[in-house]
Amino acid sequence: VIKAILFDIDDTLFPSGEFAEKARRNAIAAMVEEGLNRDVEAAYRALEKIIRKYGSNYPRHFDVLLDNLGVKENRARLIAAGVAAYHNTKSTIAPFPDVPKTLVRLRDAGYRLYAVSEGKAVKQWDKLIRLGLDFFFHGAFISEELGCRKGVRFYRIIARRLKLKPSEMVMVGDRLDKDIIPAKRAGARAIRILQGRHALKRAGRVRPDSEVRRMAEVIDAIKKLG
Ligand SMILES: [Mg+2]
Repeated sequence: VIKAILFDIDDTLFPSGEFAEKARRNAIAAMVEEGLNRDVEAAYRALEKIIRKYGSNYPRHFDVLLDNLGVKENRARLIAAGVAAYHNTKSTIAPFPDVPKTLVRLRDAGYRLYAVSEGKAVKQWDKLIRLGLDFFFHGAFISEELGCRKGVRFYRIIARRLKLKPSEMVMVGDRLDKDIIPAKRAGARAIRILQGRHALKRAGRVRPDSEVRRMAEVIDAIKKLG
């Protein structure tokens, strides 16, 4: 019987890919507004490349961008414009519309709810708080705090901490490689949510117990698991 439901954050609770792109585009637009004299599309692609190379937690994306674009003048003003626009966009993130009511229904039905995510703990909580979802969850498990990335061990540690058998947990997420396959291999159940850029990937040998198109369908999917 299912006792705890684990939810991935990015592209499960909110459209993270869309917001990331919007934040980057707004940053470039603001920099151009402040005097960056470069092609907007080229600057956007250069920024994407830098984020891929240095990772999303690197604090100096815009400095490197100006280096790569060969900008020597007016740098502080341009960087400040980019950072401000990026953060302003970040503060507009919102959950998929059916997420809050689904979480309330599942809580009312007696399940314990946890957010589980890979990355820096403060950053993951920052998202939950900005999304207004922090109080819906009984807690969160973040890879930085667990000391391992989302793999089989990650889900086993969570089961141990919750004093549950893995089979009493269900993982809800968009990614086969991080949410579905390792959770299933750890003995948990898994529901795949077909949202974001990973929605088109084909499942291989290890398959989710069910696939849903949006969060509201998770309620029925969990009932079917028994
Ligand atoms: Mg995700």
